[in-house]
Amino acid sequence: MPRLVVIATGGTISTSADADAVLRPTLTGADLTEGLDVEVVDAMSLDSSQLTPADWDRIAAAIRSAAVTDGADGIVVTHGTDTMEETALWLDLTYRGEAPVVLTGAQRSADAVDADGPANLRDALAVAAGPQARGRGVVVSFAGTVFEPLGLRKVATGELQAFAGRALGPVKNRPFLGDLAAADAPRVDIVVAYPGADTAALDACVAAGARGIVLQALGSGNAGAALIDGVRRHCRNGVAVAVSTRVPGGRVSPGYGPGRALADAGAFPAPRLGPPQARVLLMAALAAGSPVPATFERWG
Ligand code: ASP
Repeated sequence: MPRLVVIATGGTISTSADADAVLRPTLTGADLTEGLDVEVVDAMSLDSSQLTPADWDRIAAAIRSAAVTDGADGIVVTHGTDTMEETALWLDLTYRGEAPVVLTGAQRSADAVDADGPANLRDALAVAAGPQARGRGVVVSFAGTVFEPLGLRKVATGELQAFAGRALGPVKNRPFLGDLAAADAPRVDIVVAYPGADTAALDACVAAGARGIVLQALGSGNAGAALIDGVRRHCRNGVAVAVSTRVPGGRVSPGYGPGRALADAGAFPAPRLGPPQARVLLMAALAAGSPVPATFERWG
């Protein structure tokens, strides 16, 4: 029998409704895995909107301890869907072990009559126990699909499938960047472009210490003149600016005048990643000292 470890962190999969019908994490890892032959680690019990980069480090440490110290054959992390795309990508960028790491969660609370958590957990354990995922880093198993972390996006709050992304194929990208601590990574903020946007948010983020900015641009990577000027100013001072887009599933390339002006101002495209994952990749690239535009060309 493969040795499996479940690391519980909270999220809808562990919630029940309180007296006001508000969903809060209440179930422990032991509750979630009752009757299953697995070991359990309760890392935290949080709605995933409350997680910080330091929590990614805590989850990574629990994974390392399960995989390396305890010799687990497979690891499942139960996690809220709101920020699963960030945690999954950070873990994939920083995990070099052979044992599969499989994130899963749920769209319906544990006390719902039609709870989806138990089936998602069983599927995730099957993936973690099987040979196909071995040596392939971190994956996300959700509602019958196994996804690569890179490119994963939460796209639904009601349907059983919360995510869109690349289903795991015969070859999985393993974008390992190093043994990095998220809590020590440089500050990276997301700045939103919209009609008439000025540079107040951009300037405030840089003043607060951001060494990287993800611009949530328009369309295929465009922004208004004021933001382009602001990007030029900050790039000159060494701030790394990645251009993503507000279009779900959209691709970024400087095919229009404003996109070209952003590139000429020193920004580089995050060709495929949405703003939340572009931020995670930029944090990791800056922390690793990797050449940032090249890292984005390859993984962004
Ligand atoms: N708010 C929840 C969370 O991310 C949503 C979920 O788990 O589906 O923790």
